[in-house]
Amino acid sequence: MWRGVIHQYRKFLPVTERTPVITLYEGNTPLIRAERLADTLGIRVELYLKVEGANPTGSFKDRGMTVAISKALEAGATAVICASTGNTSASTAAYAARAGCRAIVVVPQGAVALGKLSQAIMHGATLIQLQGNFDEALEIVRGVSERFPVALMNSVNPFRIEGQKTAAFEVCEQLGESPDLVCIPVGNAGNISAYWKGFREYREAGAISTLPRMIGWQAEGAAPLVLGRVVRHPETVASAIRIGNPASWKPALGAIEESQGAVGTVSDQEILSAYRRVAEREGVYCEPASAAAVAGLMKYCREGRVSAGARVVCVLTGHGLKDPQTALMSAPPLQTVEAKLEAVVRAMRLG
Ligand SMILES: *Cc1c(COP(=O)(O)O)cnc(C)c1O
Repeated sequence: MWRGVIHQYRKFLPVTERTPVITLYEGNTPLIRAERLADTLGIRVELYLKVEGANPTGSFKDRGMTVAISKALEAGATAVICASTGNTSASTAAYAARAGCRAIVVVPQGAVALGKLSQAIMHGATLIQLQGNFDEALEIVRGVSERFPVALMNSVNPFRIEGQKTAAFEVCEQLGESPDLVCIPVGNAGNISAYWKGFREYREAGAISTLPRMIGWQAEGAAPLVLGRVVRHPETVASAIRIGNPASWKPALGAIEESQGAVGTVSDQEILSAYRRVAEREGVYCEPASAAAVAGLMKYCREGRVSAGARVVCVLTGHGLKDPQTALMSAPPLQTVEAKLEAVVRAMRLG
């Protein structure tokens, strides 16, 4: 039986026998070969999707949260806090509930997908909506955690990165080697840093012999890494990466440079189109932010920057069901018909 990432990767993680392990058995997510999606790229690549929406709360944040909460508990914490575009709050709330510890989550008002908001509420977190954006929320919770005995659960907490790097381990095991290219959405930039750390550690351990190039993707309206400056009012349909001043800016640039990777932008239209394409062609429903990785790969292929035969992994960071509003908003209008067979047949447009 799978018992979560701490149990599985203990020797790579900063835990001891004294660390209480708080887990929802996160990790061990599918790596799916995506041939029908690859067929639309205009170049032959060996494409895989790392489906992180299959984690217990529906995003990769659980990998980091199991380590961060366990270490906080070990240090005697009785309360935890985070700022969030949604998924960190859902994960913090769930793991805190499991630990019997208080959770306080601060989110930008009106900017969090409904599913994520409902998770924080259901798990009993104290939910505080801020009249401000994510970057302001993060600055505030950092201040709170310095002044009060509440442990900070954002990815500036190094234990989050430690847990998240296990996704890179899994990808290598599932492929039997390192991929050539990893496409990943970038918001606060913790995850791209975590994957790179994971790949490097696995190579040092002799588990793989090569390293992938890390390609990070930001939304056009929230692309500080690409612009090289803070974006004061980040805007994108992909709320999970609506971040203008990423906390892990430096390590992310390090990962991109060391891996001879790149960081690029995709438009909201490209994100939404990739979002539908993954769902329609592969049966995998991810959230808009996750689709930025696929949109990015599509763009990279169009620009001729991917070599034929490359083994590519797109990291689908979160589950589409967290944000059904965006799915319905970007779809054609629903059709309703009379309760008659002929009416249904007409609507089917079969003749
Ligand atoms: C948190 C999150 C991201 C961005 O990850 P960072 O580590 O902040 O760069 C992307 N997609 C989803 C679904 C997320 O929840």
